[in-house]
Amino acid sequence: MASGTLYIVATPIGNLNDITLRALEVLKQVDLIAAEDTRHSKKLLDAYSINTRLISVHDHNEADRAGFLVELLGKGQSVALISDAGTPLISDPGYRLVRAVREAGHPVVTIPGACAAVAALSIAGLPTDRFLFAGFLSAKQQARRTALEELLRESATLVFYESPKRIVELVQDIAQVLGETRQIAVAKELTKTFETVHTGTPPEVLNWLQADDNHQRGEFVVLVEGFAADESDAVLDPKILRALALAREQMPLKKACALVSELTGAPKNQLYDIALKQFNA
Ligand code: SAM
Repeated sequence: MASGTLYIVATPIGNLNDITLRALEVLKQVDLIAAEDTRHSKKLLDAYSINTRLISVHDHNEADRAGFLVELLGKGQSVALISDAGTPLISDPGYRLVRAVREAGHPVVTIPGACAAVAALSIAGLPTDRFLFAGFLSAKQQARRTALEELLRESATLVFYESPKRIVELVQDIAQVLGETRQIAVAKELTKTFETVHTGTPPEVLNWLQADDNHQRGEFVVLVEGFAADESDAVLDPKILRALALAREQMPLKKACALVSELTGAPKNQLYDIALKQFNA
């Protein structure tokens, strides 16, 4: 092991066999493993008979721990950072530590491996040439919808992480804010026994999620097809579309278009065409 080096080591996202030979070698040989949750990681390390000393580094102690770990690296010790699952720093702690170590002039080396976002992209069948990883959106509906509104015109495939508690709400908000016609995919329990990818429009995926409580259990990556260039239209301002979505909840589509047109100055016919496309009306 190179002395004074921080290794960022990816671990499995479910199937324990998804660990690389290099990861095992590094985890065995470093002086210390910094883990998000030491008890959780102990199970993985035990499975591979790795007895390296563990300390915790999580969101709440990362700044303090960074100083301590930089000191160790300065003394020539080597350290590996792992998270509970997948690649550290991807919706996981670590960037403050990596920054501190780089600023102190010590090498940071990647030991790549599983990442739920990339695993989902590789099997969903949505475009992968450009994607925007948005991680977890807020647990609060208003903030979540605002974040989606900001992504309305994004042409890259959108990638979200979501917990089983909010998977239904997230798909409902996608339908409401991004419209009901794009292809989306929910990839759940990747690499585990019940790995499933379900694709369709937001209403179709919502039906599937709600058809069986088991469909809502597990860990999820949600992918959304990007905004298509031919949808592009001056009236597709996120605020106008949101106003249209809200008005549509209260009145028939034609009336909603007339009201939003009156309030925003957007041409009524264009609003109507877009509403038909976006909401499958
Ligand atoms: N660092 C991890 C990575 O590289 O993907 C992500 C950590 S983040 C705290 C955990 C979230 O990742 C879960 O809530 C879920 O959205 C997603 N995730 C992790 N494992 C997954 C799996 N096996 N199947 C689907 N999604 C998963």
